[in-house]
Amino acid sequence: MGQDIAEAPKFDAIVVGAGPSGNAAAYVMAKEGLNVLQIERGEYSGSKNVQGAILYADALEKIIPDFREEAPLERHVVEQRMWMMDDTSHSGMHYRSHDFNEEKPNRYTILRAQFDKWFNGMVREAGSQILQGCDCVVPVPLHPWRRMGRGFNQARDLAQRLERPVVDGLWRIRQTRSQMALPADARRTNIRGAFICSPFAAINDRSVTLVDDVRTTGATLDECAKVLLGAGAREVRALTVAIA
Ligand SMILES: Cc1cc2nc3c(=O)[nH]c(=O)nc-3n(C[C@H](O)[C@H](O)[C@H](O)COP(=O)(O)OP(=O)(O)OC[C@H]3O[C@@H](n4cnc5c(N)ncnc54)[C@H](O)[C@@H]3O)c2cc1C
Repeated sequence: MGQDIAEAPKFDAIVVGAGPSGNAAAYVMAKEGLNVLQIERGEYSGSKNVQGAILYADALEKIIPDFREEAPLERHVVEQRMWMMDDTSHSGMHYRSHDFNEEKPNRYTILRAQFDKWFNGMVREAGSQILQGCDCVVPVPLHPWRRMGRGFNQARDLAQRLERPVVDGLWRIRQTRSQMALPADARRTNIRGAFICSPFAAINDRSVTLVDDVRTTGATLDECAKVLLGAGAREVRALTVAIA
């Protein structure tokens, strides 16, 4: 936990995914001065790609006009083919122009693992933050009585949306008063010792993202983070949908 959760930043936009679409969206918004968070389930942008691709340069050129100078491009393309196929035959056409050797090419071959990583670097240079390389997501738990009364834990429902392994790594062992009704100092006392790490959870040396619906003073998230770090988590980051 590199930053006090109580002082964590507030984002104008959250972009899920750091493929070409997510990178383009985050880049444009960050350049416009929005505070952007990107969430990528892979270890880094492009890490899930194993293949090459053709980059259709027109769209990228609109947002990064000089991309040709820095992007990891393999070769420019001078010929494209199209086929119409059925089970046993095909007919096709192709277009080839050596003008693309002379003029500004508009198609390139790329290796996605390298290209996406570069593009995401540009996004971060533009000021966007990225949450990536998360091993598992831990929802802030409700006390079992409250969970039973409500019928669901909203933090767990949100955690599942991140499409990372959800680990019920924390148990709330004590009923606490509603934090909303208490002044800041009393909230820390109220929540102290309310959580333990589940003996069934594999937390050791893992990068954990804590998820809750609302953050007020950050006292609950801080308390949960302390317990997870005490159980051996490598790092703990926290994500909430709203700040109250
Ligand atoms: C076999 C194949 C070949 C293709 N070849 C080309 C080509 O040559 N040229 C071309 O322009 N297009 C090609 N396409 C289409 C190509 O997939 C898209 O152009 C491009 O990948 C779309 O980018 P994207 O950002 O929308 O999606 P993706 O590239 O799929 O990126 C989505 C990103 O979001 C992340 N993600 C998804 N869900 C979550 C979540 N819940 N939480 C956090 N992160 C999440 C993923 O890990 C991934 O990094 C090809 C598609 C296929 C299947």
